Amino acid sequence: MSGALAGLRVLLTGAAGGIGRATGAALVAAGARVAHADRLPPLGVDGPALGGDVSLEADAVRLVAEAVAALGGLDVLVNNAGILVEQPLLETTVETFDQVIGVNLRGVFLMGREAVRAMPGTGRIINVASELGILGRANASPYCASKAGVIALTRSWARELAPRILVNAVAPGPIDTPMLDFAARTPEEKAIETNLPLGRIGRPEEIAAAIVFLASPGASYITGQCLGVNGGAAMT
Ligand code: NAD
Repeated sequence: MSGALAGLRVLLTGAAGGIGRATGAALVAAGARVAHADRLPPLGVDGPALGGDVSLEADAVRLVAEAVAALGGLDVLVNNAGILVEQPLLETTVETFDQVIGVNLRGVFLMGREAVRAMPGTGRIINVASELGILGRANASPYCASKAGVIALTRSWARELAPRILVNAVAPGPIDTPMLDFAARTPEEKAIETNLPLGRIGRPEEIAAAIVFLASPGASYITGQCLGVNGGAAMT
């Protein structure tokens, strides 16, 4: 297999979603072998398809073990699975808060910890955060807190695991996926999403390209960074 990522063994979570599908396809096109994981095994992907809930410890342990068995080892983990709940603070239950933190933050922690166990040599972890983890957003505080936590995990692991394992985050802006459901939004909501320097929402392929770069040999001197791919919405 030729390409910038030839021979790289990658475990990708949230692989059935909008950014996940584009990322899986881009990683494979760049020469990587990809284990595609989601709550249910994703259909129509190029490589092993695994099913499990990243927020559950037993599932995280099993997903990493299955990926290692299928790929013969693990070089890169892409922590992309996530959920968005939009609710005012006063309507947010403890159950909702725990669910969002459970998937978006505990899931990243569990998958990251198990992946590191499976990386005896060098490796990379790429966490999908969000610009909202930096900017905050009304009516989405658990989500924003979870993504700020992902950025903090990224920086902490980058320090702890250097120089063996490089750990970075990608922080997307508004991206055209089922999660954003842009077409169904009100004109006011659409205006909030597109009120940024590039004046449009992004495509999943534009996030995938950043993830491919962070997995590539060209990113060998990059760790602990949070790469904003957001049309200029946040500049940090
Ligand atoms: P999406 O809803 O299309 O895909 C998310 C995927 O994660 C789904 O396939 C879903 O089944 C999977 N998933 C959810 N909970 C899971 C769990 N517990 N275990 C395993 N898999 C689970 O959304 P997307 O836009 O492709 O989101 C991908 C990532 O990008 C998420 O982390 C999201 O927070 C982040 N993000 C998205 C946007 C955006 O505007 N779309 C912006 C910033 C960040």
